[in-house]
Amino acid sequence: MSTPLLQVEDLARTYRLPRERLRGPAPVVHALQGVSFTIEAGRSLGIVGESGSGKSTLARLVMALDRPSAGRVLMDGRDLHQLPAGELRQARRDFQMVFQDPYGSLDPRQTVERIVTEPLTAQGSIAGTERHRRAAEVLDSVGLRSSDLAKYPHEFSGGQRQRIAIARALVTRPRLIVADEPVSALDVSVQAQVLNLMQDLQAEFGVTYLLISHDLAVVHHLCDDVAVLREGRIVEQGPPERLFADAQHPYTRALVAAVPRAQPPAPSTPGLP
Ligand code: ADP
Ligand code: MG
Repeated sequence: MSTPLLQVEDLARTYRLPRERLRGPAPVVHALQGVSFTIEAGRSLGIVGESGSGKSTLARLVMALDRPSAGRVLMDGRDLHQLPAGELRQARRDFQMVFQDPYGSLDPRQTVERIVTEPLTAQGSIAGTERHRRAAEVLDSVGLRSSDLAKYPHEFSGGQRQRIAIARALVTRPRLIVADEPVSALDVSVQAQVLNLMQDLQAEFGVTYLLISHDLAVVHHLCDDVAVLREGRIVEQGPPERLFADAQHPYTRALVAAVPRAQPPAPSTPGLP
């Protein structure tokens, strides 16, 4: 059997809080405890859980932006947190991240061209013409125009800004994209557009997603498999259809109950039965 693209093994992260008193132990938060899962290349895993359940902590550990207290994160079988700095920098082109807030995560003083090619610069120097070509190509992939390259983030709507963030994540042609609440700041109608775009990009580029959301409906849209995170632990995992129809854990049932009822079907075309 081939090695999964991503293997997370028994991952834990404890945060030490400032002491409340001069004496005595510093209080700790167990943000993540004993979390394990694998994702095969080209598949999508959803992580759902309420605020504070450890989702962003998990994203930061998978992206090697933070170190685990215990456990391992393997990409192609290599432990990211054990890689020497140079090799980690090289490995970074294989995984990129999309954050919740498309405005906060895009530098307002930089043009779209600068923003979307920034991950290439981090990999080494790149010629201006090549930079421009790659920026135009990646912008086209997310449904924006090359004339948008000279604009600034404030000239776009929230949905367009998240397309720019997705373009930036795509520019190194990563194998894994970690998306932490990528549509939570968007109107529901725009959410579906961005999720459909992510789906199309997966079909086109074979990218693998780790999609994080507090909303089971969002991960259902995109994911083959969903892990339910509660207080830093995975309490249930399975295909979203199974979780909707037959959740085993009471917490999963509460998440299912929080999903608004499906929209009534659109009226049928006039003249047809
Ligand atoms: P989520 O993304 O699901 O809302 P987080 O991963 O942000 O959850 O947080 C999980 C828990 O860890 C929370 O209790 C949060 O307060 C705590 N936490 C997260 N980051 C830190 C930090 N840097 N220092 C201390 N506690 C933190
Ligand atoms: Mg979070």
